[in-house]
Amino acid sequence: MAQEKHFFQSEAAELLKMMIHSVYSNREIFLRELISNASDALDKRRIEVLSNSEEYGAYEPQIRVLRDKENRTLTILDNGIGMSREEIVEYIGTIARSGTKEFLSAAGRNGSSSAREMLIGQFGVGFYSAFMVADRVELVSRRLGATEAWRFESTGDGSYSLEEATLPECGTSVKLFLRAAGEDEKDWVDEWVLRDIIRKYSDFIAWPISMNCSKWKDGAESVEDEVVNSRKAIWSRPEGEVTEDEYREFYRHLSHDWQEPLARLALNAEGSVNFRGLLFIPSQASFDIFMNEKSGGVSLYIGRVFIMNDCKDLIPEYLRFIRGVIDSEDLPLNISREILQEDPRVRVIRRSTLRKIFSSLRKMLEGEREKYEKFWSAFGGLFKQGVIQDRENAQTILELALFRSTFTMQPDSSENAEVKDAEKDKKSEWTTLDDCIKRMKPEQEGLYYITGRDASALRNSPKLEAFAEKGYEVLLLADPVDEFIMAQNSEYAEKKFLNVGSAEVQATGESERKEAEKKLDGLQGAFEPLKKQVMAALSDVLSDVRLSTRMKSSPACLVGDENAVSMQMEQLMRAMGREVPVARRVFELNPEHPVVRRLMSMAGAGNAETGDFISTLYDQALILDGGSLPDPGGFARRLSRIMDMALGENSKPAP
Ligand code: ADP
Repeated sequence: MAQEKHFFQSEAAELLKMMIHSVYSNREIFLRELISNASDALDKRRIEVLSNSEEYGAYEPQIRVLRDKENRTLTILDNGIGMSREEIVEYIGTIARSGTKEFLSAAGRNGSSSAREMLIGQFGVGFYSAFMVADRVELVSRRLGATEAWRFESTGDGSYSLEEATLPECGTSVKLFLRAAGEDEKDWVDEWVLRDIIRKYSDFIAWPISMNCSKWKDGAESVEDEVVNSRKAIWSRPEGEVTEDEYREFYRHLSHDWQEPLARLALNAEGSVNFRGLLFIPSQASFDIFMNEKSGGVSLYIGRVFIMNDCKDLIPEYLRFIRGVIDSEDLPLNISREILQEDPRVRVIRRSTLRKIFSSLRKMLEGEREKYEKFWSAFGGLFKQGVIQDRENAQTILELALFRSTFTMQPDSSENAEVKDAEKDKKSEWTTLDDCIKRMKPEQEGLYYITGRDASALRNSPKLEAFAEKGYEVLLLADPVDEFIMAQNSEYAEKKFLNVGSAEVQATGESERKEAEKKLDGLQGAFEPLKKQVMAALSDVLSDVRLSTRMKSSPACLVGDENAVSMQMEQLMRAMGREVPVARRVFELNPEHPVVRRLMSMAGAGNAETGDFISTLYDQALILDGGSLPDPGGFARRLSRIMDMALGENSKPAP
């Protein structure tokens, strides 16, 4: 078949140009990237072979690095899964990987070329980094199961050629036609230069990396293939023996994450099932953490033999941000995904790993609070889902959970930005439930909480006023999952969760309540006309209107009946496409407030404008509760009429 000419996708071409013109001094990382691709390809072949065992025969997995000093070429060969023609076009001709896109946008932001080059080192940016050292690259690949191979060739000038080729077995060979070496450049065909680089970045790769090395015997040189990586599984070495650099490279290889991990966790369990492992908590949520199944997870090895990546049975859903490896010699090598789920040994591994993760998180929470908060900001939302998914560990997860509260976020009393900033610096936004319990007042009936869309809006809710006056702390729950957590857990550490948005929950104690009720009873007669008018206007959205002592400075608020779903839950369920009847709420009015007092007497006197005031007061309460106005136009018109009235008393209109 004839040679075809293709063009790189424009981002890919841009990236290539950047590589070619980079003066980055640490070019050696090209080898790390190509070996890492080869290793991934061998992983993928193994997975495919495992699931179709009868179809594919035996093979000896390996990565080879071939130096040709005379012609100044370097070839990286693997007998991994290989690529079809379409895959070459898709993966090599276009930017497939998310990390590469992130790189481009980061490089765009940091315009200077030196900053860009720093980024190359961090990201690696895969296959394209070959063009840092080569002026021509030839890739030949044969997909597992195919008979034909394809040759890709490019000088990095924006286009590449494709033609049919042959390769004795499946896999990929990447041949680099090296550029003339610059002055202070390393010699990329020198055996010792290459040994060093492989040691430094790829020593832990589980597949053998062999290289054609010179041997001297009796004054004569011969060439022999030699395995140059130690292949020592990093997780089976004592922690003290592994350097931070080695851990870093391993994490990078595993996760394709260019940031340092937040924490590392070594597993070493001996008991009914023996296993070792190495887990990492990334420092940032990858943008696709909430939807992507593929990226990362925990890989399973059996006796240092790679079995599969992202093994879901080893780690629960809500911990899927964790990256790492678990290795056990006690599992049979021919285990399949289906059996895995049922295997009691796997369950033992999972349970003990989980315990270890919890205990190391607890340690971080107690000893490295700042780091823990970073962890929480990145993964807390996902982690919290465990309270719902994993009933067995719900209390442990609640113990590790961080929340915002009226203690950690004071209401916006100060308009002064400097004071606000100072407050922000002073204290963390987060509290644990245990700390919250420590601050409970003796007469407090439980752990109070309020739910809504945004913690900083919640802290100004009128429903908190009576609680604030008593000095009771209220949790500000603004995460959709919080609603479900509260719906499923009535208590923590024997303290009841109490929703301050519910009509039943009051800040007052028994005797106080009786007294307040007596006082309110005395006002009932005066309240009756207003009550009638409110219910006449709003009976389709309200189940009741009543006077209450819940508020101190606000005139009105909306609360839910004892069993009513909250406004948030209602909106959440609607967003999920469920039919939810509108729950009618209780409209509570503060008789201490001048607006409410006046409305009471206006309604009593049959004043025609009372209707406007009632509707506006209701709309206000609805907005404060995170609801949306059913008729914003009507609200605006009423507000204008009220403003007009208020202004009319104080000034004359312009002529
Ligand atoms: P990355 O490896 O970070 O995804 P690359 O640009 O290095 O980015 O490679 C893009 C894709 O090309 C890989 O994800 C893989 O699917 C494919 N690929 C690269 N090298 C090989 C190889 N040696 N064997 C099989 N597939 C490969």
